[in-house]
Amino acid sequence: MTHPAPPWKNKALFTPGPLTTSQSVKQAMLTELGSRDFGFIEVIQSIREDLLKIGQVAQAGYTAVLMQGSGTFGIESVISSTIAEEGHLLVIINGAYGKRIQQIAQILKIKNTALEFPENELPSLEQIERCLRQDPEITDLMVVHCETTTGLYNPVEQIGKLAKKYDKNFIVDAMSSFGAVPIDVAGWQIDFLVSSANKCIEGVPGFSFILANQSSLEKTRGRARSLSFDLYAQWRGLESNGQFRFTPPTHTLLAFRQALDELEEEGGIEGRMRRYQHNFRILREGMRRLGFQEYLPAEMQGWIITSFLFPQSPRFHFETFYQKLNDLDFVIYPGKVSNADCFRIGNIGRLFEQDIRALLWAIDHVCREMELNLKE
Ligand SMILES: *Cc1c(COP(=O)(O)O)cnc(C)c1O
Repeated sequence: MTHPAPPWKNKALFTPGPLTTSQSVKQAMLTELGSRDFGFIEVIQSIREDLLKIGQVAQAGYTAVLMQGSGTFGIESVISSTIAEEGHLLVIINGAYGKRIQQIAQILKIKNTALEFPENELPSLEQIERCLRQDPEITDLMVVHCETTTGLYNPVEQIGKLAKKYDKNFIVDAMSSFGAVPIDVAGWQIDFLVSSANKCIEGVPGFSFILANQSSLEKTRGRARSLSFDLYAQWRGLESNGQFRFTPPTHTLLAFRQALDELEEEGGIEGRMRRYQHNFRILREGMRRLGFQEYLPAEMQGWIITSFLFPQSPRFHFETFYQKLNDLDFVIYPGKVSNADCFRIGNIGRLFEQDIRALLWAIDHVCREMELNLKE
């Protein structure tokens, strides 16, 4: 089979990442830079400073570390290089991304305990507290903020309070929320927060970043289980000469610099949140009108991504539905919920009301073609 010849057609991505990016973000990548170029080192420095500002921790004893690779690489970096050899990780799970955390710990042979909850429920704070009280061996606690499986927000602030009451390190996967959902990194007592270039900040894929409480990070020296993922060494490298230890994703960093400027122009987290919330409301209203139903109860549904239940119609086949939408240049995403058949539609990335309305038009069109007859 031959692959389609470039230039590729631009499709609208209604996915959890990579996302649709602006023309200007893509254009920022048209320059080749040496990794030791002074201008480039300044770009890295300004990105680190801006990330601290977005997290409102520029004056709160935090530092930002950039790590090559996708978001999972950043998570693996924190897990593999901040938990002590004799450490024990408590993972709170209510979706596929929580499960992935436990999988990383298991592969790394890090002692771990999982507290698992249904994917349409928030974790029980009582159960978390009981676990922390009964098992003094636990050293670290980790949770996903926006569980991208469903789109719910976990109660990170309350979980952080418990982590600190029992004197645990607190690690948060805020991959799909940082930049578009307010997070009080210091106030919620987060030691390590992980997110990546290609989610709500609307850059292109290529690196993840970690906002680390500096005194917590300082204690992790020598704990790394791998050379490439060594968070402490990466931080020391960035601090000492402003550079990555190994080849930096230069083009991605230039795109990210532009994406940060565009986030600022949009009004920062508040502005971006407003656009995504608006996208979400238009989507939910339109999908309900077409006869679709969300997986989560309304009060738990966030504005990042929505899981919709497969409709009842015997003529519905997800692969056909997906392919027909794809042929119209709209990319949606398969579900990840383990106990219900769902597909997902993201509101994040360079998407506006007109894009959501165009998607709704396409979904209506495909439903008619498939003769689903969802609307009585
Ligand atoms: C996207 C995402 C990840 C993983 O990101 P990759 O870039 O695919 O490695 C991890 N956690 C959450 C919550 C995510 O949304």
